Amino acid sequence: TISMLAIDANGDLSGACTTSGAAFKMHGRVGDSPIIGAGLFCDNEVGGAASTGMGELVMKTVGSFLVVELMRNGMSPQKACEEAVHRIAKKIPGYQKFQIGYIAINKAGETGAYCIHPGFNYALWKDGQNTLTDAESLFK
Ligand code: ASP
Repeated sequence: TISMLAIDANGDLSGACTTSGAAFKMHGRVGDSPIIGAGLFCDNEVGGAASTGMGELVMKTVGSFLVVELMRNGMSPQKACEEAVHRIAKKIPGYQKFQIGYIAINKAGETGAYCIHPGFNYALWKDGQNTLTDAESLFK
């Protein structure tokens, strides 16, 4: 999955995501990416979030909507991404086998990202600079 969140000079938010879906998926499977609230959610009053990884686990927890709601209730984008991953950990035994990652941005332009598996990278363009971060540095 490739997801993108953006905030413009007026503070307006937008997001998009695209995916080839899960490897070896069953014919007709619909993943989380095209489902608003699961793979992607944006509320221009609060922030936006997007996921990557095992879509079934993201759908069961309405993950991107959850991240935005946590930010609505005062959590930072970073903490909201962590809580959404840990929520899956609490609810779904064996989740460790599957990658789940979130990125998030709030109305103030603060960002966050979290994943507990290697292979999750995200790029941040801010103040004219690009940075690339990999999952290993996000582990807590
Ligand atoms: N989230 C996608 C899906 O479950 C897979 C991916 O992250 O590439 O369809």
